[in-house]
Amino acid sequence: MAQLQRLAIALSQLENQQITLTGQQQHYLYRVLRLRGGDRFMAMDGSGHCWLAELGAIEAVAMIKEEIFTQSELNIDVTLMAALPKGNSFDDVVRQSVELGVYCIMPVVSDRTLLNPSSQKVERWRRIAVEAAEQSERQIIPTILEPISFRIAVENCQQKYRYICVTRRDARHLLDCLLESGIEQQKADELPITNYQSIVIAIGPEGGWINEEVERAIEFSFEPVSLGNRILRAVTAPIVALSMISGIFDRG
Ligand code: SAH
Repeated sequence: MAQLQRLAIALSQLENQQITLTGQQQHYLYRVLRLRGGDRFMAMDGSGHCWLAELGAIEAVAMIKEEIFTQSELNIDVTLMAALPKGNSFDDVVRQSVELGVYCIMPVVSDRTLLNPSSQKVERWRRIAVEAAEQSERQIIPTILEPISFRIAVENCQQKYRYICVTRRDARHLLDCLLESGIEQQKADELPITNYQSIVIAIGPEGGWINEEVERAIEFSFEPVSLGNRILRAVTAPIVALSMISGIFDRG
């Protein structure tokens, strides 16, 4: 059923095996995709459930046919803590990180961050995350948190395994750290993901972290890690880090 279009819905739209479609969803299904009554699509609630649904005789309602059980998630709960790069390039970071299986994105404002995030930006990133999750056939829609300062993010960090990507330091390679971490992988059928082991990976802005930021992170149990011998752009580094993580924690 991979060819069926995916559509994220809110649980509040679901009642008695019926989905009440919003005006925007109706527009998308009927006008953009040109589906019609009787056509099917996949509805996902963003937290692990997916249903085969069928458009009804009236445009506002679709019927649930059956729940579909799929496995497309990493078996680790990974948060990307990323300093905001300038311009709109965080759009790409969000899209590609969602494709690679991130669970949560925490945009942070660091000392050398150039961008002052607006609330419209956050809404935009959330829409991008929904679209990317639909197209990548994710079971969940990753959370995009409100931007906060790096200092506060580090202090309030909940994840058990914490890494900060640093350049020009004698740091161990992320891959080695992950392989030697003893992080247990959960079994494939163990949703909800709240039981998963959690890791956070912090990536700096174009100008890099300042020393105090790295020191502070270390104070809060972050391990400095390398992504290799070449300096990557701020938008490339999250993708490389998440690719390594998904190489280990994909369920295959
Ligand atoms: N001019 C900065 C480059 C920053 S690159 C410097 O020389 O440090 C932006 C961020 O990407 C960095 O803060 C770091 O978190 C990450 N990054 C880029 N290349 C990396 C590498 N090879 N190893 C680890 N982290 C890297």
